[in-house]
Amino acid sequence: MKQIISIYKEFFTAYGLQGWWPLSGLNKSVGKNDRDWQNYIKVIKGHASDFKKNWPRHLGIAPKNSKEKFEIITGAILTQNTSWNNVERALYNLNKHKINTLSEIKNLDKETLALLIKSAGYHNQKAERLKLIAAYFSERDLDKIFNKPFYELRKELLSLKGIGPETADSILLYAGELSIFVIDSYTKRIFSRILGKKTEKLKDYDDWQKIFMDAFFEEENKVNIFKEYHGLIVRHGKEFCRTNPLCKDCFLKFYCFCGRIEADLRE
Ligand code: SF4
Repeated sequence: MKQIISIYKEFFTAYGLQGWWPLSGLNKSVGKNDRDWQNYIKVIKGHASDFKKNWPRHLGIAPKNSKEKFEIITGAILTQNTSWNNVERALYNLNKHKINTLSEIKNLDKETLALLIKSAGYHNQKAERLKLIAAYFSERDLDKIFNKPFYELRKELLSLKGIGPETADSILLYAGELSIFVIDSYTKRIFSRILGKKTEKLKDYDDWQKIFMDAFFEEENKVNIFKEYHGLIVRHGKEFCRTNPLCKDCFLKFYCFCGRIEADLRE
């Protein structure tokens, strides 16, 4: 579907680089003299104001150590059914209490863990899920696990209680740097509005994921695009395409199925 690529360009032009995953900076591993940092500066050239606004978050580079991977993996679970602000408070609490590795989560008692992540909501349930995923990863080498055959690894993650495709794919894409598109509620909401009837046949997560995977099938730089596109979708879902969409002011209003209907109704 050609529109998937066109919309990516529209989003990128409108919002600039998002640089997801939104690392807190608490476990930041790059310094201003690091080569990765210099490369990142080159990438964001032309998006300086956006970068400044988002500093120190949104580094937009691959996680460099197990602490950053830890933050992505725990963040992917904590963000289930809550806003990112609440997740950040939970991550801050974990960091403050020196819980910075999956082994430390595994060894922490569930009640204490639940208290530390309370701000993220459903804290007892999420503590249980964190303990399960911590047990899974701490039995394996976090630096090597993502070299495993992709679908085998995804299947193992999905077999863990409370890990659905969105959480598993977030971990695979952002912690593992593996090319899989993450579908979330923003994606479904925005694209069913933009594409209208074309999305009626999309019944489940896999159907939605396929249209994005197919659109970028020939693209070599899939990982970075998938990371960025997901961040841009979330941004658009917050800025314009909210539950009650702000179509009148949206830059996609003449391109979008719902936006055009809205414009016709106003005439
Ligand atoms: S025009 Fe309206 S429905 Fe379409 S993307 Fe923009 S805010 Fe969403």
